[in-house]
This record gives sequence, C-alpha cells and structure tokens, in this order.
Amino acid sequence: MDVRQSSLFRQRAFIDGFWIDADAGAVFAVHNPATGEYLGSVPDMGAAETRRAIEAARRALPGWRSKTAKERAQIMRRWYELILAEQETLARIITAEQGKPLVEARGEIFYGASFIDWFAEEGRRVHGDVLPLTNGDRRQLVFKQPIGVTAAITPWNFPSAMFARKVGAALGAGCVMVLKPAEQTPFSALALVDLAQRAGIPDGVINVVTALDPAPVGLELTQNPVVRKLSFTGSTEVGKILLRQAAGNVQKCSMELGGNAPLIVFEDADLDLAVKGALATKYRNCGQTCVSANRMIVQESIAERFAQRLAEAASGLKVGNGLEEGAVVGPLIEEAAVEKCERHVADAVNRGARLLTGGGRHTLGGTFFQPTVLAGVKEDALIFQEETFGPVAPVISFKDEADAVRLANSTPFGLAAYFFSRDIPRVFRVAEALEFGMVGVNETLISSEVAPFGGVKHSGLGREGSRYGIDDYLEIKYVCLGGM
Ligand code: NAD
Repeated sequence: MDVRQSSLFRQRAFIDGFWIDADAGAVFAVHNPATGEYLGSVPDMGAAETRRAIEAARRALPGWRSKTAKERAQIMRRWYELILAEQETLARIITAEQGKPLVEARGEIFYGASFIDWFAEEGRRVHGDVLPLTNGDRRQLVFKQPIGVTAAITPWNFPSAMFARKVGAALGAGCVMVLKPAEQTPFSALALVDLAQRAGIPDGVINVVTALDPAPVGLELTQNPVVRKLSFTGSTEVGKILLRQAAGNVQKCSMELGGNAPLIVFEDADLDLAVKGALATKYRNCGQTCVSANRMIVQESIAERFAQRLAEAASGLKVGNGLEEGAVVGPLIEEAAVEKCERHVADAVNRGARLLTGGGRHTLGGTFFQPTVLAGVKEDALIFQEETFGPVAPVISFKDEADAVRLANSTPFGLAAYFFSRDIPRVFRVAEALEFGMVGVNETLISSEVAPFGGVKHSGLGREGSRYGIDDYLEIKYVCLGGM
C-alpha cells in the first residue's frame, strides 16, 4: 500500500475548512527518512496565512464554545471512531514521514486517538463551584470557561499523537485551535484534520498551517492578541524562545520540553525486568522519545552484568525500514541526529567508557544507527549531561541509594525517571526524592490518556492528558452576586 494514493494524504494546509496553498504558492518537500525518497510537498506559509488561520478560529469560537459539552463530545467521538477505522493508513503515513516501525506507528494512532475520546468525556465533567458564604447578602461562584483561541506547535517524533493530545484537550474544553506541525512530518496532522472535517467538526475550529521556517509562524502565534494560549512540545531551546515571545502577550503557555531520563537499577531489582524495561524505553522510536531513558544508572555490584545483558539484547534488535516485517529500530530522523549520536559515543569513549555493542552508523546507510551500549560511562560525559535522542544506552555505576538519587537529579531536566527495586520502603523514598514529573517503578512504558504527562524544571510547564490536562484550556472566573 502506497500511502500517497490515499485520500488522507493531503498536500495542502487547512484553514477555515478549506485546503489552502501558500499565498505565494511556495511549497517545501518532505522525504522518507528510511529511504531518502521524496514523499510529497506542502505549502510554505508565513505570518499572513497564520493570521488568517487565527481569524478563522476566532470566527469559529462562538459556535463551538456555545455547543453543549455533550454535543461536542458526540462529534469528537465520531472523529475518534474514524481515526480508529483508518488506523492502518494513518500508521503508514507516520512510518513514511517519520520512520518508526509500523507496529509502533499503529500504537501511536491508538494512543493519540485515546486522547480525543478521553477529552470528549472530560469536557462533560468541567464543573464550577459554589463557595461557602462569607456574608449573608451575597453569593460567590466559580465558573470555568474555555480560554478561547489557542495555538499549538508539535514535534516530528510523535507527529500524530502530539497533535491529538493537544487538539483533544482544546476541543473538549470548548476552545478552538491553530496548529503548526513539524516541517519534517506535516502529513500526519493533515490526515487527522481531514478526518475531523468528515466527523463534522465545524470549519475554523481546527486549522493547520504548514511552514518550512517555523519562526514567523511561531512569532504570529505568540504575539497575536487573539491567541490566548500556546501549547508547545519540542526542545527546551525553542520552548524558551516561545516563552520569551509569549511574555509580551501575557499568553498562557504549556511547555512539554526536553528530557534526560535516568533509569536506576538497584541491586535488589529483578534484573530480567530491568533489562526488558531498559530495552523498551531506550530503543523505541529509535531512542527519539522525550521520555526515553538517556542514562542507565546501575548499582556497582550488578553494573557489569546489567550492561552485558542489555548489550546482548540490543545487538539482537532488527534495524530496518519501518515497513519491513520484524524491524524494531528504524532510522533517525535526519543526518544531524546521527552526528549527535556519533559525538556522544566518541566523547564517552574518550573519557574511558567501553563500547559493548554498536557504536556507529548501520551498514544500511542513510540515517540508520546501530543499537549501542556503553559501559563504564563517567558523570562528566556529554551523554550524561545532554539528551542524545538516539539508540545509545550509557551505563554508569553508583554506590548507594543517596548516590543514585544525586546522579539522577543532577540535570536541569525533569521529565520522566524510572527505577527498578523490590524494596518497598526504598520504592517510596526514591519515588519521592526524584525531581521529575513522571516516575516509572519497575515499568518504563507509563504514558496513557488517563495519566498526567509533563515535566518539572527545564522540561516544562503544565500537564497533558488525565483530568488535569483540560485545566490548561480553561479560565477560572469568580462571580460575586450581591444585594441578596
Ligand atoms: P524543536 O524544538 O526543534 O521543534 C519542535 C517544533 O518547534 C517543530 O514544529 C518546529 O518547527 C518548531 N520550531 C522550531 N523553532 C521554532 C521557532 N523559532 N518558533 C516556533 N516554532 C519553532 O524540537 P525537535 O528537535 O523537533 O524535537 C525534539 C525535542 O522535543 C526533544 O528535546 C524532545 O525531548 C522534545 N519532546 C518533548 C516532549 C514532551 O512531551 N516533553 C515530547 C516530544 C518531544
């Protein structure tokens, strides 16, 4: 099946219910990272088109906001069902533009759709409050109201799920949205919005602007006074730029930024479970996941055994085009990502680390990289300090619990952390001591629509998913009635 033949493979942007070209007719090309093959092109838009998308959203807001939560939920539910019905085509679009194995892409569609279903229902549970009397002649109430016109900017590593996680919460709350997908992966967002229209989501409620240069679009989305909220997922560096821009507009921001997740293995852990967990978090999406374990922090007495076991398992992972049967590790997104992995491996080895498996480009060429395990990594290594975003697992050893917690927390990032232990008091102590927004204990695949996703420190602001996720799209209004 060639996804380019599908009616869901859209090559135009979507504004006010219409498929639109850029004003000057400019387009940019998108390539398949596994083959380098040209996939298609989308409009190269800028501030003017973004402004029109914002205006379309503003016009659509009163109609969407004034529907009952149940009416909104029914339309969103239809969208959710259409997404599931088209799961295979949507998954193939992800694999074509992003590279991940098809089985993971199918999982991403299912995961993303679950946020639309979840927030359709959460929208029906947005309650205000009646406050206790402070004075007999008045009544005090709290209303929760949709923020209004919102914006989102999403990354290439989960091109479909990041779109759904943001749009789902916005629409469930009664907000409308203008979204800019990553330039490497616009087709997943465009396919989803096609299905949104078929489901009956009114024109202007969701708008998708595509651009090769994200800066002018980002500037308009943060500085236009009509836009009252921005939700961003991407690097900490770009998140800080957007926060500075949004400050001028006192715009509410949710930021899902970079991570540098530790995975601690204590000597009392179930080693089989720890190796399995490390493998799942490290090599999924070729390590290009913000919650991917970046640092394996293992107690001295078992560090060598753990590293050898992980290397053995990693060397057996099949690397290949995501469409190939059995491929579990796809390509990296682009050449710069390969160079970063090479730099991190070389730096660790220069500082005394030992390469147990992998270590460089895969014989498949292009942007394929070998699943890699490094033992004896030092704390000052680049790979310990920075997010690698690739299939490279560095193993560093620690002496005792305090040392493990110190190493894990010694980063400006605080998104996800994992640890393996069977000692119940330790499980509580360490879970409490880790400075991260999400902690997996004896489990590394922890994300779901029911749980709050987000980070602390330089990993971000706000939470997505769960019953907390809808709050980011609501304003609290206090109403005081006097003269009773
Ligand atoms: P990136 O920050 O370069 O790009 C993310 C998005 O921002 C893209 O759509 C891009 O076009 C846009 N962008 C870039 N510069 C911009 C600007 N000046 N103005 C407006 N928009 C701009 O990040 P990336 O390399 O694509 O993604 C990888 C990073 O994202 C990693 O650090 C990863 O940890 C992080 N991430 C975080 C989460 C999370 O939920 N916390 C999830 C996925 C990825």
